[in-house]
Amino acid sequence: MKLSRLIRIPSVGESVGPLPVVAILAEPIQLEISCRQVWKEISNYCDGEVNEELRQRIAMHLDNCKHCRAVYDGLRNTVTLVADDHALELPSELSTRLHAKLREYLARKS
Ligand SMILES: [Zn+2]
Repeated sequence: MKLSRLIRIPSVGESVGPLPVVAILAEPIQLEISCRQVWKEISNYCDGEVNEELRQRIAMHLDNCKHCRAVYDGLRNTVTLVADDHALELPSELSTRLHAKLREYLARKS
């Protein structure tokens, strides 16, 4: 956390002597990222391969965006299935069609 983000809030009736320093975030950290960015990073996010800042941004986005949440839940289910011995390999054509659908959806949204 950057020191410049910290400000000291004097308490009411503050007296002389050592007092605890109360720090708050002077400005909210910018966490907004687009659905497109989330989808680009979603598999890295699932694998824990994004940095802490990006992880937080994506987590916050997923909390507020039901579309991305659905994509994420779907991906996570897929990852669980793949990790499962009973999983079957998906035909590559399905993956191609899924990506085409996602592109179509993103094109409509923007
Ligand atoms: Zn989204």
